[in-house]
Amino acid sequence: MQRGTNLGRLGDFNQAVIFESIRRAREGISRVELAESTGLSPQTISNVVRRLLENGMIREDRTIVSGPGKPRTVLELEANQLLAVGIHLDPGMITLAMLNLRGEVVASRRVDVPSVEDPERTVKLMGGAVEELIKSSKFPRNRVIGVGVAAPGPLDLERGVVTGPPLLDGWAEVQIVRPLAELLGLQVILEKDTIAAAIAEMWSFGSSGLENFVYIYVGAGLGAGIVIDGQVLRGVSNNAGEIGHLSVGDEAHECACGRRDCLEAALSYRQIAAKAREAGLDLGSPVDGTVAERAAGMNRLLALVKSGNEAAVALMREYTALASQMVGQLVNALDVDKVVIGGPVWTEIGDVCLDVAERVINERFTAKNVHSIAVSNSQLGHEAGAVGGACVVLDRALSPKASALLLR
Ligand SMILES: [Zn+2]
Repeated sequence: MQRGTNLGRLGDFNQAVIFESIRRAREGISRVELAESTGLSPQTISNVVRRLLENGMIREDRTIVSGPGKPRTVLELEANQLLAVGIHLDPGMITLAMLNLRGEVVASRRVDVPSVEDPERTVKLMGGAVEELIKSSKFPRNRVIGVGVAAPGPLDLERGVVTGPPLLDGWAEVQIVRPLAELLGLQVILEKDTIAAAIAEMWSFGSSGLENFVYIYVGAGLGAGIVIDGQVLRGVSNNAGEIGHLSVGDEAHECACGRRDCLEAALSYRQIAAKAREAGLDLGSPVDGTVAERAAGMNRLLALVKSGNEAAVALMREYTALASQMVGQLVNALDVDKVVIGGPVWTEIGDVCLDVAERVINERFTAKNVHSIAVSNSQLGHEAGAVGGACVVLDRALSPKASALLLR
């Protein structure tokens, strides 16, 4: 729990601390409890609460009787007062989600983008899809505080540019932030999808204590979102967590980055499809197909896993073991105690592969006599990236951060 400060000139920080406490109190919280949990004076609480009530962000109209004491009036979040939209850009598909202040998905949609190769058209399509989403939500447009775009890295966040992720053909140096912001008249934030998903995971867990963990995103690519002491690790250029280019020690697969020993290349559709063919599985798509064909082939394989096809399940467990070796090394470097795995591909295979990941990661972990690593499936589902994008907007707007103090 973050505590406020009674020093002057810190109104915004205190407001963020108080609002966060109310947001996390599912059953409501009284002014007295708020003073206790934040360490702020009743006068400060009163000033901030009045502002939040005036803005319609909270309400104070419910009385709770618990125990022998006087009934207490509680402050509660007006969850739908402000909303954020998240967009996940993935090969072949754009996923959108609208979140309220509690981090609940209030509207979502998926748009197939067969021509994701044409970035200009895709940005226009994203804008149109956001407008449709807002319309379908039935909430007034002016409640939307911003749009968070989660995209495969590496990104140049300073310029708002996707720098050419290997999995999106034709996306070299694509401007996203400015054209989309101009199109929508809304604030647009770009974030790497793995970092966005890690932030979403923190939000969905609320205050239940996800402080040190690694989020492994398994989608069109593979990446990590790293959270240490409750703060997401961004690195110098916001590109931390590119574990897809760790060496698997085997120079057999050509990677888009130019090397031949990258994890991501070993896990590419080309490799998976070739192995699937060896195992007698028909994915119905050529090994070297277009983005859409590769996505279709992958979906076919995932469907086979879902239906319990033994060869398909064995193949996925084999790849899970390979990737988990790398994750285990990352866990050794960071000494976290939790690994959460998610993303659109993992959502389909997590149930039959989680035990492999848990075993391999823990085998790799050096300090196992001190603590073990809890490995779990993310609950964010297919929409992890989009929910993450929206959470980035909420996080930036609402969370009390130590850095907010330093900036003053
Ligand atoms: Zn590489």
